Amino acid sequence: MSGFSEKMEILPLDVSFDLCVRNKSPKASCEACVHVCPQKAVSLAGGLEVTDRCDGCGICAQVCPNEVFQSMIFNRNALLTHCSSEHNKKVIVCSALGNGVKREGFRFFEVPCIGSLDEVLILRAALRYGKVSVLIGNCEGCELRTGWQVFSVVEEKVKGYLSLFGLDEGMFVIKRLDHNSLTNFIETEFPVEENLPALKQSRRDFFRMAGEKALYAGTSLLSLYLDTKGGDDEEAMAPKILPRRRELILLMQENIPLSGHKVLKGIFDRISISSTCNGCGECVNLCPTGALDLKVFGNERRIYLNTLSCTACMLCSDICSQGSIRLSKKVEVRELSGQEPELLITLCYNTCLCCFGLFYGSEDSLYCQDCEKKIYASPAKLHLNPSEERGKIGYFEEKAAYKSLPTDPW
Ligand code: SF4
Ligand code: SF4
Repeated sequence: MSGFSEKMEILPLDVSFDLCVRNKSPKASCEACVHVCPQKAVSLAGGLEVTDRCDGCGICAQVCPNEVFQSMIFNRNALLTHCSSEHNKKVIVCSALGNGVKREGFRFFEVPCIGSLDEVLILRAALRYGKVSVLIGNCEGCELRTGWQVFSVVEEKVKGYLSLFGLDEGMFVIKRLDHNSLTNFIETEFPVEENLPALKQSRRDFFRMAGEKALYAGTSLLSLYLDTKGGDDEEAMAPKILPRRRELILLMQENIPLSGHKVLKGIFDRISISSTCNGCGECVNLCPTGALDLKVFGNERRIYLNTLSCTACMLCSDICSQGSIRLSKKVEVRELSGQEPELLITLCYNTCLCCFGLFYGSEDSLYCQDCEKKIYASPAKLHLNPSEERGKIGYFEEKAAYKSLPTDPW
């Protein structure tokens, strides 16, 4: 059974406890949700807990790398449906500003807080249905003011993606208004139009939505890639691509060519592993999305990363005893095309020339943790004859080690 099925609902928030890094290891350091929750409803002291103080604003969902939270009072699909209607103006308003403001023939979409909006949702709405406007009120004086800080990051991301796709940043507009100026703004920007007959409108919207869904679901390379994963067992072991991340990758695939070595710096994050890795495989065991994989080839261990699945939650970095895992902000576009996982590091089974212990080390830098020495880097310190050819030493010692190789548990 997939670990993703262990979901629990605490209304008004859906929480996937099994995806939280704090529930995977006490060494995990993430606490992003605690810092942004305006109601102080999240606690991490003994693992993730959400108390009944939660009002479902969904701000936590925007900062959690592993998509642990989903607001139950803010429906993302409802926003897309709203934007899909040609009679709606794709205007999103926070509930504090929009409360009580009405005008005949005009509807905006109210969200609990603008901090409930994520970049993928805004991009989807803008790319499919045209310019999206977000109207915000007096965030500094609002009890949900952390939402404004979170939304500032979302705003930057949306602009970054629009620029990456070669689109006009004007497709996403933000206006700060107060309660009185909101009505004037609506009158000026969106003058009353003659309504089409209701039946005609709803049928047209229905068919447009159906067409959009078919296009979205059917043509993606990523969908094809995922569909090739067969069988329940294989599916359970396969790396998971979290829903919102999957949506974003689909948008990338639709809007830019995912081939070649173009680097997406700072837009997608992922990890890298340095040569101090000892191949223990703990990161592979704990990764919440199964993004890491360890394969054994003879006397080698190889660690692979599925970039599509890595959320850069950094749990692997927190638990790595060697401090070998770092955040890498350089992702090449081709890595998002759903092709083969990337080889991060190859580790050879070897014997230390100093203590004769067996260990796994990187091809580039064989490092014995017991002696805390690089074997080939400083042979003089290891009392070897410096004039002796290094490759030869390695060859003979390896041969001795291979005779007594234990069975690899992987
Ligand atoms: S992984 Fe998500 S739920 Fe867990 S501590 Fe980090 S932000 Fe909070
Ligand atoms: S590889 Fe590391 S950073 Fe990426 S999802 Fe897994 S644990 Fe998180």
